[in-house]
Amino acid sequence: MARIKTARTAGAEEARDSDCTICDGAGYLAMGESNEYKRPCVCTLRYLYKRALGDEVYNAEPLDDSPFAALTDSSLFIKANRRDFLPHLRHALISRGTQFFHRVTNDSQMLSAWLSKDKETSKEEGSTKVTFTSLIDLVEDPQLLIVFLGVVSYKNRALPGVLLEGLRIRRFAGKPTWVVTSHKRPFVDGHFAWSPESEEYLLENFQQHTIKASRNDKTLYEGVTVVQGDEADLDEKEAAKRKTMRAKRAANSIL
Ligand SMILES: [Zn+2]
Repeated sequence: MARIKTARTAGAEEARDSDCTICDGAGYLAMGESNEYKRPCVCTLRYLYKRALGDEVYNAEPLDDSPFAALTDSSLFIKANRRDFLPHLRHALISRGTQFFHRVTNDSQMLSAWLSKDKETSKEEGSTKVTFTSLIDLVEDPQLLIVFLGVVSYKNRALPGVLLEGLRIRRFAGKPTWVVTSHKRPFVDGHFAWSPESEEYLLENFQQHTIKASRNDKTLYEGVTVVQGDEADLDEKEAAKRKTMRAKRAANSIL
């Protein structure tokens, strides 16, 4: 099959699917009376959106509509399970086109970026490996930043402050942020990223949204028990707290 490469269609050229039956592998469709215009083929758009959104978001269930599509310029605090939220995120991002610059991150990556004086690397979600050397580097640039909470699984004294600082950097830059917290790990006292200040900040400056859980399934942590050896290293108060948490988890479990 003939492959024509021109500067104007470089993106399409890179993106085209050589097996596409719509464009015969050209990556674009010729338009106009004498074929003077070129429009990207659906195979090209598919490639570009997949690259822009990352595999996880792109592969989420397609929706016909989502209230979140109209909210990409607003800061939101969303209570939703990741699986239920991803289709809305997919819809909202596609509605902004392939050039829209968003970033999906999480509390763990924010902490890593903040700690990066230790030369830790953090991986950009759904993308090739990207190293952020500071919190500001991670959070400031995207037009929309999406922060999934609940990835950090240990108590870290700095985390609530790091989250709050990240949110403040965004707000100071006049850019919207979506913070997503799961139903299983509500953002209340005891959540590793929670602090009274960050809760107040989210309540005052972010629109509140809830997506009902489509399914009550267990979290990865419900199958995990702390072995005795680990608890020996904890002080009594912490060990008692963990015991209570395990009891609560067992009571709530639908195993
Ligand atoms: Zn095509």
